[in-house]
Amino acid sequence: MNQMNLADFHLTLQVMDNIDAGVVILDRNYTVMAWNTFMQAYSGINADRIIGRNLFDVVEDLPIEWLKNKIKSTFKLRMRSFTGWEDRPQIFNFQNFSPISGGSSLMYQNMTLTPLKSLSGEYSHICMTITDVSDIAKNKTHLRESNEQLTHLSMTDRLTQLYNRGHWESCLLEEFERCRQLQQPATLVMFDIDHFKKVNDTHGHIAGDGVIRTVASLLRRTKRQSDIAGRYGGEEFGVILPNTTAEMGLYFTERLRKRVEKAAVAVDVRSINVTISLGVSEWHSGFRTYEAWLENADNALYESKQNGRNQTTVSNVIIPESELAILS
Ligand code: GH3
Ligand code: MG
Ligand code: MG
Repeated sequence: MNQMNLADFHLTLQVMDNIDAGVVILDRNYTVMAWNTFMQAYSGINADRIIGRNLFDVVEDLPIEWLKNKIKSTFKLRMRSFTGWEDRPQIFNFQNFSPISGGSSLMYQNMTLTPLKSLSGEYSHICMTITDVSDIAKNKTHLRESNEQLTHLSMTDRLTQLYNRGHWESCLLEEFERCRQLQQPATLVMFDIDHFKKVNDTHGHIAGDGVIRTVASLLRRTKRQSDIAGRYGGEEFGVILPNTTAEMGLYFTERLRKRVEKAAVAVDVRSINVTISLGVSEWHSGFRTYEAWLENADNALYESKQNGRNQTTVSNVIIPESELAILS
């Protein structure tokens, strides 16, 4: 019988040393009773150096308080517990050699704690298993980063790096709803580069693109962080100014207009000067849809064009009689 037990034990040890996971057995005082090959290989600590000793005395950099609490509660609840890499990426300070990156990096780990019963039937020990989940973690992290990049690409205009029309319009709709609910001011600015066809005709399309990019960059530098700028069309832009009245918005438009007027876009040895025309429309409770707000700003822009370009027009909101009845 004793012979059989020894043989069984020998087999069990072989299994423990050959599985691709760390296996550690501890008693209630954190004394190490077993430390398999996986643990030896990644920690650099041989079994004979750690068995019979306190885990926390030998292994450095363990999250001591956290791990002790985990072990204590596993004993208390007499139930298996699990900690995933998403909650805590690392328990042991192990490095993992990655054939993809060709170097070593932090090993992401999952940990399971299983309470073990002694022959007398009490829970006297705990088995800790550590699995290397670096591949899963890296794939998932990579996927998340790719998704973030895709989201960025789907919202961004390639030429200017401003929001594209689709995303910008969804921001405008959001701002419109916010104004309606909170009855707070917000101002919408639409602007368009003057005589841009002539720029393309005279200097070529590539130079034209350079002008669009320069105007976008001046816009980015002139607006506040909270203002939302988008490329609405070819050489037409939209800016949402939250918490801003039309009067305050005029400070922004005039600063931008003057900066564009002064800027010279260098193309080869020549330089190109352009101007912009702007339309300003403050949100009004009479606007039924965000499109009505947009149309109002566009009409103001059109007026700037009609009146000689390189200027800003602030829209006068004209609400039809029928709508006024609803408002009063
Ligand atoms: P206006 O002062 O009335 O605005 O005159 P305009 O010549 O600027 O007229 P309009 O705004 O209608 O012309 C837009 C021109 O912009 C037409 C198109 O060829 C050009 N365009 C649109 N998108 C791009 C672009 O991405 N790059 C370049 N280079 N040109 C573009
Ligand atoms: Mg134009
Ligand atoms: Mg245009």
